[in-house]
Amino acid sequence: MRGDNTVAERAQGALYRRWRPQRFSEVIGQEYTVKTLQNAVAQGRLHHAYLFAGPRGTGKTTVARILAKAVNCESPQEGEPCNECPACRRISRGISLDVIEIDGASNRGIDQIRQLREEVNFVPAETKYKVYIIDEVHMLTNEAFNALLKTLEEPPRRVIFIFATTEPHKLPPTVSSRCQAFEFKNISPELIAGKLREIAKAEGIAISPQAIRAISRRARGSFRDAEVLLEQLSSYKGKAEIEEEDLLQVMGLPSEEALSGYLRAVLSGDIAGALEVIARLSEGGKDPELFLESAVEFCRDLLISRLTGEPGLEQGQGQELLGQVLSDGELISLSERLLELKREMRFLLDKRIMLEVGTLKIIADLKGLRSGREESEGLKTEIKAKAKTKAKVKAQAGSKLKPKPKSSLVPEEMEERWQRMLEEIKKERVAVYAFLAEGHPR
Ligand SMILES: [Zn+2]
Repeated sequence: MRGDNTVAERAQGALYRRWRPQRFSEVIGQEYTVKTLQNAVAQGRLHHAYLFAGPRGTGKTTVARILAKAVNCESPQEGEPCNECPACRRISRGISLDVIEIDGASNRGIDQIRQLREEVNFVPAETKYKVYIIDEVHMLTNEAFNALLKTLEEPPRRVIFIFATTEPHKLPPTVSSRCQAFEFKNISPELIAGKLREIAKAEGIAISPQAIRAISRRARGSFRDAEVLLEQLSSYKGKAEIEEEDLLQVMGLPSEEALSGYLRAVLSGDIAGALEVIARLSEGGKDPELFLESAVEFCRDLLISRLTGEPGLEQGQGQELLGQVLSDGELISLSERLLELKREMRFLLDKRIMLEVGTLKIIADLKGLRSGREESEGLKTEIKAKAKTKAKVKAQAGSKLKPKPKSSLVPEEMEERWQRMLEEIKKERVAVYAFLAEGHPR
């Protein structure tokens, strides 16, 4: 069972291993958890079982190892391991006989838990506490859980269990209720960016600020993913500076220019423009699903920076332009449509056609939505004018101001608009036209 992790770490790269935190204070983004654990060690108030739950790459096994060292360190400093005594060093190198790591995912743990049951009652060989770290504990079989439960019900002295899981709800309550639980949170892009900057500087990796921000955002809260990306890009670029474009290329992501171009075309009802962006994406070998995902994120970032009044992490020119065009409601409804389209696309082979057809539907719907709103805007001005002379009208305004539903278009109008759009599409993309011509407006 020992050695499993070193293989996994080798795959994760040298940077990850070199920069793995060795003290509670070096862990980023989990202040409450590390402070509580550090205090518990300092005051000698240890539990016999801990549950670390949270998304991948947020530091669960890292903190588990620091805790294993802290409880066994020969000269701890305020709950922190010294990292220099023989016990600390053996644990850091993964060769301590008393810190045992089990990967619940690798073979669902039956043999390992059996072995654990046999060994758990032996006192630690060389340290104060025997520490079992069980990663992905939710993957254990029922059999393994039952064996584990018996040990947890009557925990041997000087044994500490640390369970790590991305899916705590899959643990039997009989097991989780016997643990002190800590929730590991996604790490914010700002914190990830700060740490990446520090690492790049120390390692002599040349990287633009835009690229750092882009990596931090793509990592989605996982610091491990961010480090792996940085390392991947640095070996791809050699001594040259890493640019945002390199990340997009490595990950197959669309550029901000493509995203804002697409959204602008959709919002202004520019069918030819939208189809052109899609054609360019397709020629560049970009995945339509990833493109939609990025477009939704783009909208979300824009919405967040609008609502909070703070500039987003990637506040480019494209976003500023879009910001002037869109209302919050429109942004939300557009995001919903794009997400819906992405879901529909998942099981289809020709994703490009689906992206084209879906985009045209969104354009048509937005047009309908807007003409509905213009009518109600007109009504609003009318009511305001009346309110000046007759204050009583005010009371009724509320009900009249409700936005009209999409269906306010009469069927003939809808049909006419649909036909006009089909003609326009026919000029641009015959394949899409053929697909649409069979259908009717909703
Ligand atoms: Zn030590």
